[in-house]
Amino acid sequence: MLDGPRRRLAAFIDRMTLAQQIALAMGVLFVVSLAAVALVAAAITRDVAIARIKDEMRDTARAYAGRLEQEMRERLSDLTLLAASDQMKDVWGGDPARLRAVLDQLAASMDRRAWIGFVRTDGTVASATRGALENQSVASESWFREALAGPTYRDIAGGGTTAPAGAPVAEPGAARTGRAPPAALLALPVAPNRGEIAGALVAQLSLDYADALRRDLIDSDRITPSEIWLLSRDGRMLLGPRPESRPYDAARIAQFLAAKSGALIDDAGTDRALTGFAVADGDDHAPFIDWIVIARQPVRAAFGEAWTLAGVVLAVGLAALVLTLAAASLLARRIAWPLVDLADHADEIGRTAHAGTLPRRHGSREIVRLSGALRGLLRRVGLAEDRISAQSSQHAKDLGDLRRIAESDALTGLLNRRAFLAEAGLALSGTRANDTVGLLMVDIDHFKRVNDTYGHKAGDLVLATVGAAVAEVVRGSDRAARIGGEEFVILTRDVDAAGLLALAERLRAAIGHRDLDVGAARIRVTASIGATLAAPEDRDIGDVMERADRALYAAKRAGRDRVTMRYAPGRLRA
Ligand code: GH3
Ligand code: MG
Ligand code: MG
Repeated sequence: MLDGPRRRLAAFIDRMTLAQQIALAMGVLFVVSLAAVALVAAAITRDVAIARIKDEMRDTARAYAGRLEQEMRERLSDLTLLAASDQMKDVWGGDPARLRAVLDQLAASMDRRAWIGFVRTDGTVASATRGALENQSVASESWFREALAGPTYRDIAGGGTTAPAGAPVAEPGAARTGRAPPAALLALPVAPNRGEIAGALVAQLSLDYADALRRDLIDSDRITPSEIWLLSRDGRMLLGPRPESRPYDAARIAQFLAAKSGALIDDAGTDRALTGFAVADGDDHAPFIDWIVIARQPVRAAFGEAWTLAGVVLAVGLAALVLTLAAASLLARRIAWPLVDLADHADEIGRTAHAGTLPRRHGSREIVRLSGALRGLLRRVGLAEDRISAQSSQHAKDLGDLRRIAESDALTGLLNRRAFLAEAGLALSGTRANDTVGLLMVDIDHFKRVNDTYGHKAGDLVLATVGAAVAEVVRGSDRAARIGGEEFVILTRDVDAAGLLALAERLRAAIGHRDLDVGAARIRVTASIGATLAAPEDRDIGDVMERADRALYAAKRAGRDRVTMRYAPGRLRA
């Protein structure tokens, strides 16, 4: 099923050069590892950022809580100093207007909207800032009894529900909307005469300072909480984007109060956030209100850092990729060129008739090996080629030799009977229309006697000598053969009767003029010759030879050592 795509891939790869393949492979490897590095870097950065931001948020919450505690402690210490002041001894029970002046002054030193009042032991407000609530009773307030026993704190959420009735912060807007802003309430006993408690000093402070500080922290460059919330110990939001809401459930608030400070990832806001918390609870000597400070940063801030880093890694990596690819293609070309060169040479050798040799190539150990191996291979091919061509020319020569041996007479070197018949047949078939082919039949006279007298060896010597004489008188176009024991035949072309007779006489003379020394004796050899011309009525060479044979017989009968001519029946004697 995968065969098609796989074959297409193989075809695609075959079309690519080695250099392109190396560059592509390196590019793919690089991109994959780059992506892996970027992702891992992003993941590590995100985890580190999450941990760091959580720490930052926790520290911010702690710092903020600390500042709030310090602020409230300072206010308390102002109140304590006033309560314990000797100069105030007579003022507490004296003229309310005088006390009010003192309280106004102290309130102004704290914040613009602070309210400070002195409450007698029966719960009646004796004197107060700006005269607010004077002569009214706060005996029913939960903090009142506690205040007579010792310093006490309260926070007052927006709406003024737990404020001294109608008393709190004299904020014009609050009066109009019927809503008071959140506030802190500090109260402590006043005992001017040796521990005898005259009443309680009560201060209700706006959270303006806390809010300003909160905004400063949010806007600061150094740490970047996107939100800081101030919650009451029962989880209501005092300062933050949704006052009076309860962003956390009771369990979570209990967890905050138990842990005092820490960090977590929470979903309480509009965004999933990295959240630090700290409880402003003072210490054993100076217990505090248990405000819960929350500092938050959206989780995506951490992801943002991670993705920014991943982007930087990718960008740098891609730039490096371009350089690497350029280097890779150069390198690949450098690696591949000896191969390309070898391939070109090998290709050329494949096209030419003879195996040549390849240039020695360098570039890598493999290339050196390959070029060496190819050179060796070509050497072998060349040797084999040489051997084959030497063998085939030897074969041709052998074949020629064999043919010559098969066609020639061993003793005289002339044609043998079979070869002569073949050649003469051909010659005759080509010239039948004209009388231009002549035939001489030659027989050595009394040859038997030579054999008998001097031996067979001497006879062979005579035969060879007569053969040499025959070879001597014939022309290149003539054909001469020994066709029997001591009988020779000569076929000659482009000849008439006179020419044929002349040739026969020359031959007879050549034979007859040779005396051979055989041992002590000298042998005189003669031959009789029958001559004839081929005629149109001759069916084949056999007819011509038969006629020449008859002429030879006639020469023998006429006394030997002579030439006799015989003509075809249809032809007049010339
Ligand atoms: P003529 O032809 O004159 O009538 O007498 P002749 O003695 O030549 O008679 P014939 O042709 O009958 O004899 C041929 C002899 O040639 C017979 C044989 O001993 C001898 N002969 C045939 N072939 C060879 C050969 O190859 N070598 C030798 N030494 N002798 C041969
Ligand atoms: Mg004979
Ligand atoms: Mg004879």
